[in-house]
Amino acid sequence: MTAADDFRSAAHTAADLVADHLAELPARPVWQPMDDAARRTLLDAPLPAAGRPLAELLAAVGRDVLPYPMGNGHPRFFGWVNSAPAPAGVLATLAAAAMNPSSAGGDHADVHLERAVVRWIAELVGFPHPAGGGLLTSGTSMATIVCLAAARNRAARAAGWDVREDGLAGMPPLVGYVTGETHSCVRKAAELLGLGSRHLRTVATGPDGHLDLADLRAAIARDRAAGLLPFLVVASAGTVGTGAVDAFDPIADLCAEERLWLHVDGAYGAFGVLDPVIAHRYAGLGRADSLALDPHKWLGVPVDCGCALVRDTAELRATFSLVPSYLRDEAAGELGWFSEYGTEQTRPFRALKVWATIAHRGRDGLAADIARTTALARRLGELVTADPEFELLAEVQTSIVAFRLRPAGLTEGAVDALNRDLPAAVQRRGRAFLTGALLHGHEMLRACLLNPATTEADLALLLAEVKAAARETAGERPH
Ligand SMILES: *Cc1c(COP(=O)(O)O)cnc(C)c1O
Repeated sequence: MTAADDFRSAAHTAADLVADHLAELPARPVWQPMDDAARRTLLDAPLPAAGRPLAELLAAVGRDVLPYPMGNGHPRFFGWVNSAPAPAGVLATLAAAAMNPSSAGGDHADVHLERAVVRWIAELVGFPHPAGGGLLTSGTSMATIVCLAAARNRAARAAGWDVREDGLAGMPPLVGYVTGETHSCVRKAAELLGLGSRHLRTVATGPDGHLDLADLRAAIARDRAAGLLPFLVVASAGTVGTGAVDAFDPIADLCAEERLWLHVDGAYGAFGVLDPVIAHRYAGLGRADSLALDPHKWLGVPVDCGCALVRDTAELRATFSLVPSYLRDEAAGELGWFSEYGTEQTRPFRALKVWATIAHRGRDGLAADIARTTALARRLGELVTADPEFELLAEVQTSIVAFRLRPAGLTEGAVDALNRDLPAAVQRRGRAFLTGALLHGHEMLRACLLNPATTEADLALLLAEVKAAARETAGERPH
């Protein structure tokens, strides 16, 4: 058999393996702890001295890998913000790897396709898209670094500093504003960019989880009076805790007045704007200076795929562009290479899975999928509210339901302890998967709905599982 024949035959086997995996998944436990032997098989795998045929590797994947998923392909996975993979995206991954370009730049299909899908993403969420105004990244963590670096450099230049040349040392501190609900990736970016997490002010939020404008205004005034340089406000298009969407218009007004960069974290929630029922919450989103969002979340593009969108393309390029002689490219065109707009040099062909995912469902199909999940989330909110043993902790603004179990007669401390233990107990039972977090210092359960294959019956089952897990853990709990 030639190598090409061998590949073809293995590829057919691989297609069946993957199709079987996806087809069988809903009937399997959502997640199960790996048994020791299975875990050791992977952990202790010896470095192979001799190679093995493709067919044998596929058998090993089918036996040792595919049976132990994270759970996020399952209709009853409600944990964190991890979606089921879009089938079109799964297929695209194979073709993208077969081409294996570096999408740093140049005149090949992947580069042009990335320009197109970044424009599509901007169009889907209603963000302005000047040519070159964004790029795909590994996720929102990286997109945030990209956007905040541009914000930092613009602010420093306005203050007479060239950060690329001189660094930040000696400069008055640049100050950014976040809320208690802001994702940790913003702090990570601020630390990496030399801003110092101490210079991220935590602005108050209202009962709806929205950034409090009066508190923001006061904090900016205080910092200016102290000789610091306010430069950045981070707003959320869907917080990770409760899915709250900030009121962008008034924040954008204040940022314009104060000449601050408005960055919106839309990692989880930006695509919610596609649902006509909640689209009004996103008014003003397009006024931000930058938007980070994750096609690998609500759209179901297979991981990894984030996206950074910026209004000021020149600023982004001025922040990252370095073109040494060995990267000169006469065919690069006016926009240059993607590697001039971010941190990565060799870049994967992420665009094909984005193209496939969007092209397969179309804008309307994606909007219908997203609308279905927000409707399911509101329904879950109703089920929680109707059940006296549960308590809904936040209005369901997008597709995250923040709630807790509150059996009668428990002290506040006992309710916290119970809800702290519940996610792991639910997960271990294997019938549903949700995670927990702190909200205003109290333990909550959160269910994030991203999978249009989820049904109302699945929601009822989730709540029943929470109660069953509570009965199970009650036996183990000290009274
Ligand atoms: C997931 C998430 C992030 C981080 O994005 P990654 O793609 O995991 O790097 C940031 N903000 C919010 C709101 C998120 O949900």
